[in-house]
Amino acid sequence: MDESEQDRRHKERAKKHKAVVDAKIAKATTDKGLLLVLTGNGKGKSSSAFGMVARTLGYGRKAAVFQFIKGAKLVGERAFFNAHPDVRWEKCGEGFTWDTQDRQADIANARAGWAKAKEALADPDVHLVVLDELTYPVNYRYLEIDEIMPAIEGRPSMQHVVITGRAAHDAFIAAADTVSSIQDVKHAFRDGVRAQEGIDW
Ligand code: ATP
Ligand code: MG
Repeated sequence: MDESEQDRRHKERAKKHKAVVDAKIAKATTDKGLLLVLTGNGKGKSSSAFGMVARTLGYGRKAAVFQFIKGAKLVGERAFFNAHPDVRWEKCGEGFTWDTQDRQADIANARAGWAKAKEALADPDVHLVVLDELTYPVNYRYLEIDEIMPAIEGRPSMQHVVITGRAAHDAFIAAADTVSSIQDVKHAFRDGVRAQEGIDW
Protein backbone atom coordinates (compact mmCIF):
# COMPACT_ATOMS: atom_id res chain seq x y z
CA MET A 1 0.00 0.00 0.00
CA ASP A 2 1.43 3.40 -0.95
CA GLU A 3 1.62 6.37 1.40
CA SER A 4 -1.37 8.20 -0.07
CA GLU A 5 -3.56 5.11 0.27
CA GLN A 6 -2.44 4.80 3.94
CA ASP A 7 -3.28 8.47 4.49
CA ARG A 8 -6.70 8.04 2.88
CA ARG A 9 -7.53 5.03 5.11
CA HIS A 10 -6.27 6.84 8.19
CA LYS A 11 -8.54 9.79 7.41
CA GLU A 12 -11.51 7.47 6.96
CA ARG A 13 -10.88 5.71 10.30
CA ALA A 14 -10.35 9.05 12.11
CA LYS A 15 -13.65 10.33 10.68
CA LYS A 16 -15.52 7.30 12.04
CA HIS A 17 -13.75 7.62 15.39
CA LYS A 18 -14.70 11.29 15.59
CA ALA A 19 -18.35 10.46 14.98
CA VAL A 20 -18.30 7.97 17.88
CA VAL A 21 -16.55 10.44 20.22
CA ASP A 22 -18.85 13.32 19.20
CA ALA A 23 -21.93 11.15 19.90
CA LYS A 24 -20.62 10.34 23.40
CA ILE A 25 -19.84 14.01 24.10
CA ALA A 26 -23.31 15.03 22.90
CA LYS A 27 -24.86 12.62 25.43
CA ALA A 28 -23.01 14.17 28.41
CA THR A 29 -25.13 17.26 29.01
CA THR A 30 -25.26 17.53 32.80
CA ASP A 31 -23.28 19.92 35.01
CA LYS A 32 -22.89 19.14 38.69
CA GLY A 33 -20.50 19.40 41.60
CA LEU A 34 -18.50 16.20 41.57
CA LEU A 35 -17.17 14.01 44.32
CA LEU A 36 -13.86 12.51 43.22
CA VAL A 37 -11.94 9.87 45.12
CA LEU A 38 -8.27 9.30 44.32
CA THR A 39 -7.10 6.19 46.08
CA GLY A 40 -4.73 3.22 45.63
CA ASN A 41 -1.12 2.61 46.60
CA GLY A 42 0.57 4.34 43.66
CA LYS A 43 2.02 7.86 43.57
CA GLY A 44 -0.10 10.64 42.13
CA LYS A 45 -3.18 11.11 44.34
CA SER A 46 -2.42 14.41 46.08
CA SER A 47 -0.52 15.87 43.15
CA SER A 48 -3.54 15.23 40.92
CA ALA A 49 -5.78 17.01 43.44
CA PHE A 50 -3.43 20.00 43.46
CA GLY A 51 -3.54 20.01 39.66
CA MET A 52 -7.30 20.56 39.96
CA VAL A 53 -6.64 23.42 42.40
CA ALA A 54 -4.49 25.04 39.70
CA ARG A 55 -7.21 24.53 37.09
CA THR A 56 -9.81 26.06 39.42
CA LEU A 57 -7.68 29.13 40.16
CA GLY A 58 -7.04 29.55 36.46
CA TYR A 59 -10.74 30.40 36.09
CA GLY A 60 -10.64 32.91 38.93
CA ARG A 61 -12.54 30.59 41.27
CA LYS A 62 -11.84 29.77 44.90
CA ALA A 63 -10.38 26.55 46.29
CA ALA A 64 -9.89 25.21 49.81
CA VAL A 65 -7.39 22.52 50.77
CA PHE A 66 -7.38 20.58 54.03
CA GLN A 67 -4.30 18.41 54.56
CA PHE A 68 -5.19 15.79 57.11
CA ILE A 69 -1.82 14.15 57.68
CA LYS A 70 1.00 16.30 56.51
CA GLY A 71 1.53 19.58 58.26
CA ALA A 72 4.78 20.03 60.05
CA LYS A 73 6.94 20.03 56.94
CA LEU A 74 6.62 22.75 54.32
CA VAL A 75 5.65 21.16 51.03
CA GLY A 76 6.06 22.82 47.64
CA GLU A 77 2.33 22.92 46.92
CA ARG A 78 1.61 24.78 50.16
CA ALA A 79 4.46 27.22 49.56
CA PHE A 80 2.97 28.00 46.16
CA PHE A 81 -0.80 27.92 46.71
CA ASN A 82 -0.85 29.43 50.22
CA ALA A 83 0.31 32.72 48.75
CA HIS A 84 -2.68 32.78 46.37
CA PRO A 85 -5.55 35.04 47.49
CA ASP A 86 -8.21 32.59 46.27
CA VAL A 87 -6.94 29.60 48.24
CA ARG A 88 -7.64 28.62 51.81
CA TRP A 89 -4.97 26.16 52.89
CA GLU A 90 -5.29 24.41 56.23
CA LYS A 91 -2.92 21.97 57.89
CA CYS A 92 -5.01 19.51 59.84
CA GLY A 93 -2.28 17.23 61.12
CA GLU A 94 1.28 17.27 62.32
CA GLY A 95 2.58 14.36 60.28
CA PHE A 96 2.33 10.60 59.92
CA THR A 97 1.20 8.63 62.98
CA TRP A 98 4.61 6.97 63.22
CA ASP A 99 6.19 10.44 63.45
CA THR A 100 3.78 12.14 65.84
CA GLN A 101 3.39 9.05 68.09
CA ASP A 102 0.67 10.98 69.89
CA ARG A 103 -2.77 9.54 69.22
CA GLN A 104 -4.71 12.14 71.23
CA ALA A 105 -2.98 15.02 69.44
CA ASP A 106 -3.67 13.37 66.07
CA ILE A 107 -7.34 12.97 66.97
CA ALA A 108 -7.60 16.59 68.14
CA ASN A 109 -5.91 17.85 64.95
CA ALA A 110 -8.15 15.73 62.73
CA ARG A 111 -11.30 16.96 64.47
CA ALA A 112 -10.22 20.60 64.39
CA GLY A 113 -9.38 20.18 60.71
CA TRP A 114 -12.73 18.61 59.96
CA ALA A 115 -14.56 21.49 61.68
CA LYS A 116 -12.80 23.89 59.28
CA ALA A 117 -13.45 21.67 56.28
CA LYS A 118 -17.17 21.71 57.11
CA GLU A 119 -17.16 25.50 56.75
CA ALA A 120 -15.81 25.20 53.21
CA LEU A 121 -18.33 22.44 52.42
CA ALA A 122 -21.10 24.90 53.31
CA ASP A 123 -19.73 27.82 51.27
CA PRO A 124 -21.00 28.04 47.67
CA ASP A 125 -18.19 30.48 46.79
CA VAL A 126 -15.68 27.67 47.20
CA HIS A 127 -15.63 25.90 43.83
CA LEU A 128 -13.28 23.09 44.86
CA VAL A 129 -12.60 21.49 48.24
CA VAL A 130 -9.64 19.12 48.56
CA LEU A 131 -9.73 16.77 51.54
CA ASP A 132 -6.17 15.52 51.21
CA GLU A 133 -5.38 12.23 53.02
CA LEU A 134 -8.85 12.20 54.60
CA THR A 135 -8.97 8.40 54.23
CA TYR A 136 -6.51 7.90 57.12
CA PRO A 137 -8.30 9.66 60.02
CA VAL A 138 -11.48 7.96 58.81
CA ASN A 139 -9.89 4.51 58.71
CA TYR A 140 -8.32 5.08 62.17
CA ARG A 141 -11.77 6.15 63.42
CA TYR A 142 -10.46 9.55 64.48
CA LEU A 143 -13.37 10.94 62.47
CA GLU A 144 -16.73 9.23 62.08
CA ILE A 145 -17.85 8.51 58.53
CA ASP A 146 -21.44 9.14 59.62
CA GLU A 147 -20.48 12.67 60.48
CA ILE A 148 -18.54 13.25 57.26
CA MET A 149 -20.98 11.97 54.65
CA PRO A 150 -23.87 14.38 55.43
CA ALA A 151 -21.55 17.39 55.08
CA ILE A 152 -20.25 16.11 51.74
CA GLU A 153 -23.66 15.13 50.43
CA GLY A 154 -25.28 18.36 51.62
CA ARG A 155 -22.67 20.67 50.05
CA PRO A 156 -23.60 23.36 47.49
CA SER A 157 -24.74 21.64 44.31
CA MET A 158 -21.98 23.01 42.05
CA GLN A 159 -19.11 22.47 44.48
CA HIS A 160 -16.49 19.85 43.62
CA VAL A 161 -14.81 17.76 46.31
CA VAL A 162 -11.68 15.63 45.99
CA ILE A 163 -10.77 13.05 48.62
CA THR A 164 -7.32 11.49 48.48
CA GLY A 165 -5.60 8.68 50.36
CA ARG A 166 -5.11 4.94 50.31
CA ALA A 167 -7.83 2.43 51.17
CA ALA A 168 -10.78 4.79 50.72
CA HIS A 169 -13.81 3.90 52.84
CA ASP A 170 -16.62 2.13 50.94
CA ALA A 171 -18.96 5.02 51.74
CA PHE A 172 -16.65 7.42 49.85
CA ILE A 173 -16.48 5.08 46.86
CA ALA A 174 -20.24 4.56 46.85
CA ALA A 175 -21.00 8.29 47.00
CA ALA A 176 -18.34 9.36 44.48
CA ASP A 177 -18.99 10.32 40.87
CA THR A 178 -15.41 9.58 39.81
CA VAL A 179 -13.04 7.12 41.46
CA SER A 180 -9.46 6.44 40.39
CA SER A 181 -7.35 3.81 42.05
CA ILE A 182 -3.73 4.56 41.27
CA GLN A 183 -1.71 1.41 40.94
CA ASP A 184 1.80 1.14 42.37
CA VAL A 185 3.75 -0.37 39.47
CA LYS A 186 7.19 0.94 40.52
CA HIS A 187 8.41 3.55 42.97
CA ALA A 188 11.94 4.98 43.06
CA PHE A 189 11.90 4.87 46.88
CA ARG A 190 12.21 1.10 46.76
CA ASP A 191 15.48 1.52 44.84
CA GLY A 192 16.85 3.64 47.66
CA VAL A 193 16.05 7.01 46.11
CA ARG A 194 14.87 9.50 48.72
CA ALA A 195 11.91 11.84 48.20
CA GLN A 196 12.82 14.48 45.63
CA GLU A 197 11.95 18.17 45.96
CA GLY A 198 9.31 19.24 43.44
CA ILE A 199 8.33 15.64 42.69
CA ASP A 200 7.48 14.14 46.06
CA TRP A 201 6.98 17.22 48.25
P1 ATP B 1 1.82 12.59 45.56
O1 ATP B 1 1.62 13.59 46.67
O2 ATP B 1 3.23 12.57 45.09
O3 ATP B 1 0.78 12.70 44.48
P2 ATP B 1 0.29 10.45 46.74
O4 ATP B 1 -0.61 11.49 47.30
O5 ATP B 1 -0.27 9.55 45.70
O6 ATP B 1 1.62 11.13 46.23
P3 ATP B 1 0.88 9.57 49.43
O7 ATP B 1 0.56 8.21 49.95
O8 ATP B 1 0.08 10.71 49.91
O9 ATP B 1 0.84 9.47 47.84
O10 ATP B 1 2.40 9.79 49.69
C1 ATP B 1 3.02 10.98 49.49
C2 ATP B 1 4.51 10.79 49.40
O11 ATP B 1 4.88 9.41 49.44
C3 ATP B 1 5.09 11.30 48.09
O12 ATP B 1 6.37 11.72 48.40
C4 ATP B 1 5.13 10.08 47.22
O13 ATP B 1 6.11 10.09 46.21
C5 ATP B 1 5.42 9.00 48.21
N1 ATP B 1 4.79 7.76 47.75
C6 ATP B 1 3.59 7.62 47.18
N2 ATP B 1 3.36 6.33 46.85
C7 ATP B 1 4.45 5.63 47.23
C8 ATP B 1 4.86 4.27 47.14
N3 ATP B 1 4.07 3.36 46.60
N4 ATP B 1 6.08 3.93 47.67
C9 ATP B 1 6.86 4.85 48.23
N5 ATP B 1 6.56 6.15 48.33
C10 ATP B 1 5.37 6.55 47.83
MG1 MG C 1 -1.11 12.10 49.12
